[in-house]
Amino acid sequence: MLYDNHGRLINYVRLAVTDRCNLRCYYCMPEEGIKFVPRQELLTYEEMERIVRVLAALGVEKVRITGGEPFVRRDLMSFLRNIAANEGVKKIALTTNGVLTAPHVKEFKDLKIHSVNLSLDSLDPARYFEVTRRNEFDAVMRTLDALLDHGIGVKINTVVMQGQNEQDILPMVEMTKQLPVNVRFIEEMPFNGSGQHYKEWVWDHRRIIGHIREAYPLLTKIPDPPHSTSYNYSIEGHQGTVGVIAAFSRTFCGTCNRIRITPQGLLKTCLYDSGIFNVRDLLRAGASDAELTGAFTEAIGHRAKDGYEAEASRFLHSPVTESMATIGG
Ligand code: SAM
Ligand code: SF4
Repeated sequence: MLYDNHGRLINYVRLAVTDRCNLRCYYCMPEEGIKFVPRQELLTYEEMERIVRVLAALGVEKVRITGGEPFVRRDLMSFLRNIAANEGVKKIALTTNGVLTAPHVKEFKDLKIHSVNLSLDSLDPARYFEVTRRNEFDAVMRTLDALLDHGIGVKINTVVMQGQNEQDILPMVEMTKQLPVNVRFIEEMPFNGSGQHYKEWVWDHRRIIGHIREAYPLLTKIPDPPHSTSYNYSIEGHQGTVGVIAAFSRTFCGTCNRIRITPQGLLKTCLYDSGIFNVRDLLRAGASDAELTGAFTEAIGHRAKDGYEAEASRFLHSPVTESMATIGG
């Protein structure tokens, strides 16, 4: 079992399998895209499988596949089959924009995938286009239908952006009346390839919940699952639930059980740090499993207490500007 220096159990890894994406979400990357990592610098699937093997032997039971958009990487499904074959891996989760996902949903349960995070920032196709700069709304809705038809748990990630989609908050909540989905509103973070969008940032988790409560006075706090990053609520008569993720306010660090591996192999023990060491370089230098185990254990034994401490330790205190596509969310 892996415990960090603050006594937190680490049993969850998030693997960003690519930094490439078929959307250009306003909050994640500029219209022209980001400087994508050269192909030879990306971790290969074999390298990721080895990382998962080493981590699973240390007690990491849950693997989330994210990106960039996971489904733009060729042969993703073969990779998922190999990860699922690892007995130490109990649960695989996916975060996807849903553009290319629908045809694969029927295989998810066999691959230990029982829950998917689907990103959707508007139910209005025109605004969806404005936010993502691509015309893929119908494809995402097909994925949503496929997930529900196959009994896969759905969490919908909605980033709340000042001046962009505030008007979408209530329609997204209304969707939970008919559909058994957990809609989670995420505070926007400055991980968009260029840094802070606003002089004044107003849509924090309190304001989001206050806004929902004005329209739905019966909004009721429900217990949050262990290690949850969201505060969750039900509304009487609704099949689904609503949550808010204080990603910028960072209120959930005390129970954080996760580490991240970026597409080029950087280990991040916090979303806000600038990387602890490069696992790919160790692998390509011929490190043994014991050496990899030692490197992970050492990094986790020196973890920042929270996202503020991690941000303060960034190289030369450079502010957060990287795209979320290079981190995986
Ligand atoms: N492409 C996939 C997707 O969009 O679901 C997976 C990768 S994406 C980087 C993972 C999550 O990060 C998405 O739910 C997205 O909404 C969220 N995200 C990206 N940039 C963000 C930002 N600047 N602030 C808050 N959330 C962000
Ligand atoms: Fe692509 Fe996901 Fe970033 Fe949107 S949030 S640009 S879908 S990686």
